[in-house]
Amino acid sequence: MIDQVRTWIDAAQRVVVLTGAGISTDSGIPDFRGPQGLWTKNPLAEKMSDIHYYLADPEVRKLSWQNRLASPAWEAKPNPGHLALVHLEQRNKLHALITQNIDELHQIAGNSPDKVIEVHGTMRRVMCWDCGMRAPMQKVRAGEEDPKCRVCSGILKSDTISFGQQLVPEVIDRAMRVAGEGDVFVAVGTTLQVYPVAGAVEVARDAGARIIIVNAQPTPFDDVADTVFADSISEVLPKIF
Ligand SMILES: [Zn+2]
Repeated sequence: MIDQVRTWIDAAQRVVVLTGAGISTDSGIPDFRGPQGLWTKNPLAEKMSDIHYYLADPEVRKLSWQNRLASPAWEAKPNPGHLALVHLEQRNKLHALITQNIDELHQIAGNSPDKVIEVHGTMRRVMCWDCGMRAPMQKVRAGEEDPKCRVCSGILKSDTISFGQQLVPEVIDRAMRVAGEGDVFVAVGTTLQVYPVAGAVEVARDAGARIIIVNAQPTPFDDVADTVFADSISEVLPKIF
């Protein structure tokens, strides 16, 4: 099956890739929802990820900032799965890289920032809930327990989409548009259970793209996919790209 998929990629001009948490677990970043996930082990972590608790409770914010300092994502390095996507871009085949991840490992690996569509934002930037100011996370990481916006003294949070928070419509629109522009669509390390992002697979399929899924667990789209790999992402991606 690997050989077959390689020929599809070799023949493709525009490959669209969607990545989820599964591509970063080999970099030491735990999947929030999986059996070993942070939320499964620590329900308080889920509270910290809910915008309503975060805005309402300074204690939740303090814990959230502490927790962020300790995140393994700051030290994480891209793995062979990320590097395979850089190779795909170097071959001029990567049309767009839609990611549900907030770790920026695609950009750190070497993918062009303008190819990467971060539907859930990035943990490496901070935003003010009140005035919309954005700045690198680095500037506030070492700061106070519950840092305030320097412009308006509003509540700061990481520039990521929390539970209960709206996705950014322009970002989702762009993701759906590019999903329909590829000749091959590859979904990697995502269970494809969260809409609207999962809908990108339908858009790609309706536009006639071949669908390839690489994920350890079954997804609702396995039966419409041309191929499904349940093997290790860091092993499959270098082989097919
Ligand atoms: Zn502000």
